[in-house]
Amino acid sequence: MTSIPEKTLGDNIAEFTLPEGCMLCGGALIIRSSPGNGSHSYCPHCHWLSRTRVRMHNGGLEIAYATRAVA
Ligand SMILES: [Zn+2]
Repeated sequence: MTSIPEKTLGDNIAEFTLPEGCMLCGGALIIRSSPGNGSHSYCPHCHWLSRTRVRMHNGGLEIAYATRAVA
């Protein structure tokens, strides 16, 4: 359940933009997915960097933000 087939992401790093994907400023979010290093999201506007989990479906993408607990 935790493993995502690498074939869905391809062999190389995939990069795409998610419009209004930034939770902080609502700007466009750049998602980078690499098979070995997981996925990261980056916002050029507020420089928000976060880890994400991206799942590819037939109809589109499913992105989950990894929220880390900060005391
Ligand atoms: Zn932002």
